[in-house]
Formats: sequence, C-alpha cells, structure tokens
Amino acid sequence: EPGPRVSHDLTTGLMDNRGGKCVLSLDLEKEVVKFRKKLKDSLPGSDWNPFGTTKGLPPERADVVIVGGGVMGWSVAYWLKALEPQRDALRVVVIEKDPTYSQASTVLSAGGIRQQFSLPENIQMSLYSAFFLRTINEHLGVVNEPPIDIQFNHSGYLFLALEDRAAELEENVRIQRTEGAEVSLLSPAQLKKKYPWINTDGVAVASYGLENEGWFDPWSLLNAFRRKAMSMGVCQCFGEVVSFTISSREIMTPEGELTFSRINYVRVQMPNSVEYQPVECSLVVNAAGPWSQKLAEMAGIGIGPPNTQEGIKLPVEPRKRYIFVWHCPDGPGLDCPMLVDTTGAYFRREGVGGNYLGSLSPAEEEEPDIQDLEVDHNFFQEKIWPYLAHRVPVFESLKVKSAWAGYYDYNTFDQNAVLGPHPLVENMLFITGFSGHGLQQSPAAGKVLAELILNGKFSTTHMEKFSFNRFVSGEQVLERNIV
Ligand SMILES: Cc1cc2nc3c(=O)[nH]c(=O)nc-3n(C[C@H](O)[C@H](O)[C@H](O)COP(=O)(O)OP(=O)(O)OC[C@H]3O[C@@H](n4cnc5c(N)ncnc54)[C@H](O)[C@@H]3O)c2cc1C
Repeated sequence: EPGPRVSHDLTTGLMDNRGGKCVLSLDLEKEVVKFRKKLKDSLPGSDWNPFGTTKGLPPERADVVIVGGGVMGWSVAYWLKALEPQRDALRVVVIEKDPTYSQASTVLSAGGIRQQFSLPENIQMSLYSAFFLRTINEHLGVVNEPPIDIQFNHSGYLFLALEDRAAELEENVRIQRTEGAEVSLLSPAQLKKKYPWINTDGVAVASYGLENEGWFDPWSLLNAFRRKAMSMGVCQCFGEVVSFTISSREIMTPEGELTFSRINYVRVQMPNSVEYQPVECSLVVNAAGPWSQKLAEMAGIGIGPPNTQEGIKLPVEPRKRYIFVWHCPDGPGLDCPMLVDTTGAYFRREGVGGNYLGSLSPAEEEEPDIQDLEVDHNFFQEKIWPYLAHRVPVFESLKVKSAWAGYYDYNTFDQNAVLGPHPLVENMLFITGFSGHGLQQSPAAGKVLAELILNGKFSTTHMEKFSFNRFVSGEQVLERNIV
C-alpha cells in the first residue's frame, strides 16, 4: 500500500474529541517516520524511497491545471493570480514531474534576451519582457523575502550579415525600429572601429541592439515566478501527468463531422509511488516545453487519421542543443556583445575571467539523437570552432572548459510560439514551441495567455497569429532571426 493509505489504516480508531474526525496523532506520525527509516535502511540502495511523500498531492479540483513547472508554466500561474478579478477567484495548480528540473529547457538555456527579431509580435513580446525584467521586483517581489537579482548583464546582440543577407538584416532593423526597439546599423568600418578584435572579412552590414538586450540567470527568473505565484496561492505539485479523462461529442460543421472534446480530469502520477490523484478541472495549460506534443497526444491531439483535423499533431518536439564554455585570456574582454555570426554560430562573455559561452544550431540533416543529453565535443571542434576562429582570430587558441546540452521546445512548422486554445480539445491551451527564444518571452507570453483565459481574448498584443489554427490552415508565421 502507498503512503497515505498506510497512515490512514494506522490511525483507525483515533478520534478527534471535537469533530469526531479520524486524525493522525503526533506520536503515530513519529512511529511512521521511524518505520519508514527502518524499512529504508534494511533495503539496498540508500536513496531508495519506498513510500513517496504524499504531502504534495494535488487538490481534487482546480480551475486551471498547468502542466509543466518551467518558466512558462510559472509565468502563466503568476499572471493568472496577478490579473484575477478578485482575490482567490481562481484555484490554480502547477504540476511538475521533475523537482530537480534536470532536463527542463529553462534551466539549461543560455539566458539571452534580444529585441532583434523580424516578426512584430516577437519584438513586442521581448520588449515587454525586457521592461518586466528591469522592474522585476515591482512584479515578483515578495514581502519579507530577499529582493530578486536575476544577474542581468546589459549588452547588445550583434548580428553580422554577408552581402546576400544584408537587405534582409536592414529590413529586420526597420521593423524593429517601427516596433520601438533601439537598434543601430554598422558598416564594416564602424564595426572594426567598435570591436577591433572582429575579422570583418565578407561582412556587409551589422546590427547592434542599443538597449533591452543582454543575458540573465534563468534559474533566478524561474524561482522568482514560482515564489511569487505560490505566495499568491498557487498550488505546486510534483508528479507526472500521465493521462486525461475526456468527454467528446460529434458536431456537424461546414468542414464535415468533427469530434470536439473537453478534458474533465487530469490524472497525476505521484513520484516513487503507485498512487495517483485525479484532478477535476476547467482548463488545462500545456506548458510542457519539449514534451508538449506528448502531453497533447494524451488529450487525443494528433492521433486521429492522417489528413484530418484530429490527425494534426502539435508540431513541437525536443531538439538537442549544446552550449560550450571556453577560456581565452586574450579574448574580446569586457566589452563583448552577444555576437551572432553570419554562419549562425554565436557567443558572449561569461563572467569576467576571460570565459565565453556559445554554440551553433546544427543543420536539419545533422540533428543529434535526443535519447540523452550527452555532449558531442566533436561538434564544437569540427563545426563551431572553425567559424569562431575565423571571425575572432584570437579564438584560435581557446580552450573548452565545460559544456552541456538541453532541449529546445522546437516548433518544426515555423519555429515560433504556439499560444492559445486547441480548436477541437476546447479546454487545452498551449504555451509552447518557442524554439530557442522562450526564456526571454516568458513574462510576456504568460501575461498574454492569462489575459486570454480571463477575458476570452488576447488583449496585450494581437497574438492570434500564434494559434494552433495555423497548423490547420497551413499558414506559417516565419521568424527570420532564429538562433
Ligand atoms: C541550450 C538552450 C539554449 C537556450 N537559450 C535561450 C536563450 O538564450 N534565450 C531564450 O529566450 N531562450 C533560450 N532557450 C529556450 C528556452 O529555454 C525555452 O524556450 C523555455 O525555457 C521553455 O520553457 P518551458 O517552461 O516551456 O519549458 P521547460 O523549462 O522545459 O519546462 C517544461 C516542464 O514541463 C515538465 N513536464 C513535461 N511533461 C510533463 C508531464 N507530463 N507532467 C508534469 N510535468 C511535465 C518538464 O519536466 C519541464 O520541467 C534555450 C534553450 C536551450 C535548450
């Protein structure tokens, strides 16, 4: 028998003299702890926990169940509480399968924020997020708790373009300025003057962000959202969502008969336990990052026959991306931007000790295996380093110090966010698919989704473009600046 049932059995017969209710006496609780310890010690493997703690069981009912406790999940949770029409109007629970976040995209990211996108919606989201991060303590500060320091390093992104992409880069800058971003264009001569360590061979033009760009600590942002949301009454639960209970009905529409469904219960498997808890809910937010397609499939999304609406998958999958950290004492130094080379290789300063951090997304046909998060060091040696050494000759002598890999929540359709409801599974809403720019957009994306939940429509900016419907209509929302 799993944890709570054992405790319950042991307490049978102990009556509370006020309410007549069955209670767990303190002494008995001590006994249970001792019993568990004894059992644990007698088994091989010191970290084996025979009974999962059930303290963190989710509630039996919630208005909004958010699946995924990464930065997106907690951002939505925070915004729902911040914008709810009256206090405690909404019962919100965030369910996370991995309390260590060992594979979560958020904590393995490079922490960059930039305004330099080509889509107005992306620029708007990052502009808002930059404002939010600059004033983070006004939003996420908690009384009697230490102030938040996300270790924001203000530094522009520097995009370089060859002749064949120069017009595109200039057009991007025009759009960025129209949206309110401060970005300058640099000729090769200006570039050389500003950064003498860059080899400008072949570079036709560069763009440099003058404000609202840089990098910060992803963990600090995640924890700040979580701490604030929990202080506002959001319930955190560690467990894995393994299935949904769904009700469906067939409706004749102009496109033929379609099956519409609603999720009634979310089934949560508790860690180290055979126990599960069904949570009755009104809405489910799919914030499962790289695993959001799997979660969508549990709701029947994409498992219908091919060439039907029911057969259209959420096109978000895990794609492995590496980050390498190297040492180069004679490198660019303190005034080093986040440089995005003409080849797609990028790097930035990491701290102040002559360390740099960077990577390159592999070509489509060279996508690495996603079974594990092993790092392929040859990828640095053969693909990244030659580009780096060409663009910054002093990087000829760099020494790689460490590396890690994480999963992008990669949208294979158009590498952009998926925000809002599913057309057929009416109460599943997505906040996923950010493909490498999700961390920075989390403050804005969470707000946009919370507004949609509370008001029934997008109100901050017009984000309908990012809805699931585009996978049905086949209209891509393409972003030219995917790093
Ligand atoms: C190497 C790398 C570099 C990056 N660099 C940047 C950058 O510089 N700037 C930027 O803005 N973005 C960057 N990103 C992207 C960014 O990290 C992601 O877009 C963002 O963190 C996505 O957040 P998330 O909350 O959706 O996903 P995650 O952080 O992955 O959270 C999803 C959570 O859902 C949980 N989960 C999944 N399924 C279930 C289930 N069934 N039940 C319960 N829980 C479940 C998972 O355990 C996970 O913790 C980078 C990503 C990587 C990998």
